[in-house]
Amino acid sequence: MTASSRQISPQPTSPESADPSSDQLIPNQVPPLTGYNLFLSDRTLTHAVEREGANWAREQIAELGRLLGKEEAQRWGFEANENKPVLHTHDRFGNRRDEVVFHPSWHNLMRTSVANRLHCLPWEARRPGAHVARATLMMLTAQNEAGHTCPISMTFSAVASLREEPELFAEWERRILSSVYDPRFAAAQEKSGVLLGMGMTEKQGGSDVRANTTRAERIGSSREYLITGHKWFVSAPMCDAFLVLAQEPQGLSCFFLPRWTPTGKRNAFHIQRLKDKMGNRSNASSEVEFERAWAHVVGEEGRGIQTIIEMVNHTRLDCAIAGAGLMRQALVQAVHHARHREAFGKLLIDQPLMRNVLADLAIESEAATLLMVRLAHAFDHREANERERAFCRIATAIAKYWLCKRTPVHVSEALECLGGNGYVEESIMPRLYREAPLYSIWEGSGNVICLDVLRALTKDPATVEALLAEFKSAAGADERLDGYVQRIAGRLATAASDKYAARDLTEKLALALQACLMVRYSTPAMAEAFISSRLAGQHGQAFGTLPDDMDVKEILNSVVEPLA
Ligand SMILES: Cc1cc2nc3c(=O)[nH]c(=O)nc-3n(C[C@H](O)[C@H](O)[C@H](O)COP(=O)(O)OP(=O)(O)OC[C@H]3O[C@@H](n4cnc5c(N)ncnc54)[C@H](O)[C@@H]3O)c2cc1C
Repeated sequence: MTASSRQISPQPTSPESADPSSDQLIPNQVPPLTGYNLFLSDRTLTHAVEREGANWAREQIAELGRLLGKEEAQRWGFEANENKPVLHTHDRFGNRRDEVVFHPSWHNLMRTSVANRLHCLPWEARRPGAHVARATLMMLTAQNEAGHTCPISMTFSAVASLREEPELFAEWERRILSSVYDPRFAAAQEKSGVLLGMGMTEKQGGSDVRANTTRAERIGSSREYLITGHKWFVSAPMCDAFLVLAQEPQGLSCFFLPRWTPTGKRNAFHIQRLKDKMGNRSNASSEVEFERAWAHVVGEEGRGIQTIIEMVNHTRLDCAIAGAGLMRQALVQAVHHARHREAFGKLLIDQPLMRNVLADLAIESEAATLLMVRLAHAFDHREANERERAFCRIATAIAKYWLCKRTPVHVSEALECLGGNGYVEESIMPRLYREAPLYSIWEGSGNVICLDVLRALTKDPATVEALLAEFKSAAGADERLDGYVQRIAGRLATAASDKYAARDLTEKLALALQACLMVRYSTPAMAEAFISSRLAGQHGQAFGTLPDDMDVKEILNSVVEPLA
């Protein structure tokens, strides 16, 4: 695009045009990015949906992409964050109330996501490509407003653990899989749709949940218990039920703790306060105390970590999806700005150094999307295919670690592309920036995840085979990639003993996986730039340091053309 084809061209400043009350547009300001389709403008995603057998959901995905690009849905995101949730611990008579009240725009976001079955699609659709379809819907949604995806993700993920307790699951299944968003604070029996959350972290320990002190006492010989203790972080406390960990005589166990007891009374789930946290402002994260709260054990007593880990693995997938989503939105905002803003006589997108920055951000976003789609594919096939199961085990940790580490730096660089306007709350950028670091602390922080990579490699040798098979899929395509893969493959056998180097290994595995995917599914220009810069050392420490013989025009066209 040339300067002359811009929608708003610079005008000489006259007293009349400087007057904001006149009808003249202010020169050289960028039009809002609205009225576009988040899905159809993303070639990587549209190709992935087709390739991965999720085309049956294409119409729905395109419709959500259209809705999320509209000014109305964008406004919901802003309003839900400008109007923080409010906790009411007690009513005016001093009775406990324990309710959090949200802005109507939060409910619009939730209603849209539930209606699109982001909280349950793979459990209900049970057809190939369902995880990829849902991952795509989630990635689009996270671009508009990520805060509300927390309860959506936890509901989706909790099902994976709750199935360990078939009778209990059968009781709740219909309401969990419902596409009706029912935000009323009422007993589940009275509701047409419910949401689920999770409580693991306590004051004295989050990563090391074995240190949990919350206790569970069995009621007679049933599978029902009374829980006493606390949780230090409970996000989305208005969910209808939570999977929590508590100690019982056989050890740490997983429990299903609803906000209302089966007899229709409020459960002893007391919200102490909301966290004044960094990150989104739309969602509530709380501190909770349980005073002999009714709960039902899930899975085998004493094996709570093994039971809840299925939920955790699915939320880790969602962290990777959200990371890819935030990077994509940051990239799109930066490219849009650069296409419309002029400095030093040229559009920013025509300034050589800006082109380097944008192309570098584009390949990072592309590699993130491909890795998250590959992971979702593994979730789709892991029950029927042993190798995909092993790949899923290891790649969940690798992708979660790496995409969550890349998101904050990527978003921060994109923010700068917008100049001062990017730092103003009326733009979406500050929201993306605040959100970006959250995903690395959730569901296993950086170190914990890298140690999990080592654990998987040692305890499940099939994970090594799965990685090697994945690398083989791109063998011979690029000598630099072949050499890189060979060097890491050599480290896999001895990796487990080297905790000190766990981050280094995980990062390199992630880059190798991404490079293989870029070679297979991206454009030659993108794959070349990724391998030269990320694998072959032709890159600095910051974005915008691609070597000079890259096909930047081709890289940028793949982002700009579908947006135009
Ligand atoms: C906004 C927000 C919402 C949250 N929502 C929820 C929720 O809904 N439910 C819930 O259960 N939790 C929730 N959490 C808590 C989160 O999961 C924990 O904060 C996280 O698991 C880390 O636990 P911790 O805070 O106790 O840190 P710690 O466990 O004390 O860890 C501190 C640091 O030490 C590192 N570390 C730990 N062990 C090792 C090791 N062996 N070797 C090297 N380094 C190590 C960690 O990586 C981390 O960087 C939320 C947190 C935030 C910020």
